[in-house]
Amino acid sequence: MFSRRSIELKTTRQLQDMQRAGVVLSEALDAAVAAAAPGVTTAEVDAVFADVLAQHGATSNFLGYYGFPATVCASVNEEVVHGIPGDRVLQQGDVLKIDGGAVVDGWHSDSARTLILGSSEAGTADPEDERLAEITRQALWVGIAAFAQARHVGEIGDAVDDFVTSQPGAPLGILEDYVGHGIGSAMHLAPDVFNYRTGHRGPKVQHGMALAIEPMLVRGGIETRTLEDEWTVVTTDGARASQWEHTVCRHPGGVWVLSAPDGGAAELAAHGVVPVPPGE
Ligand code: MG
Ligand code: MG
Repeated sequence: MFSRRSIELKTTRQLQDMQRAGVVLSEALDAAVAAAAPGVTTAEVDAVFADVLAQHGATSNFLGYYGFPATVCASVNEEVVHGIPGDRVLQQGDVLKIDGGAVVDGWHSDSARTLILGSSEAGTADPEDERLAEITRQALWVGIAAFAQARHVGEIGDAVDDFVTSQPGAPLGILEDYVGHGIGSAMHLAPDVFNYRTGHRGPKVQHGMALAIEPMLVRGGIETRTLEDEWTVVTTDGARASQWEHTVCRHPGGVWVLSAPDGGAAELAAHGVVPVPPGE
């Protein structure tokens, strides 16, 4: 079940290069999130993201990936991942997932956020969608906190699974068709990073390891299918989905969220984890 491909371990210098790719990505996602609003097309959101990469001399690892035609995946509502930006006009109440990446000096980053267009307080969004997005966001930080202490990669999925299944209210499904991954000199490397309990410990956590941790949760069943565009993945039952993702590394000094400007300090404090930049 686990990949036999060897795991790429990065030097401090290489992790610092990845950090540059992560910070550019964070800024590009900030801009894309700010641009996303009712009446805006997903292609316009993609263009805003692409502009920020270009301003920093970064390139996109999504554009041209097996022929993917854009710099972000923009997945709306029941679309889970891999939605292609286009002329779809965003609507009030939509659940939008923006997933993108950046490459600087050959080193990759990968991060995703979920955005609700509207709010339940204003009567423009479904409170259950807000709950879905918030639990998914929290599940990401639970997974990152687990990685900070983990001896084996499987502990990330154990922690995410325990967190999600212990939430009060309507149960949320944890997608199994798509998982996180190693990242570094390419976007998708070994090992697989599961978001659920597999019953396997997985590979040992080592210094220089960089992972894209990306829980994907759904309000219904976890079955998915791919649309005729050969990219867009939707839930088979049409239930809405959320995805949050960060690129994170372990190094001799500790853990650092490469795709967050503060290394994850603000969010990890609640978990008793103090991130340390690579090289410190
Ligand atoms: Mg991603
Ligand atoms: Mg990823």
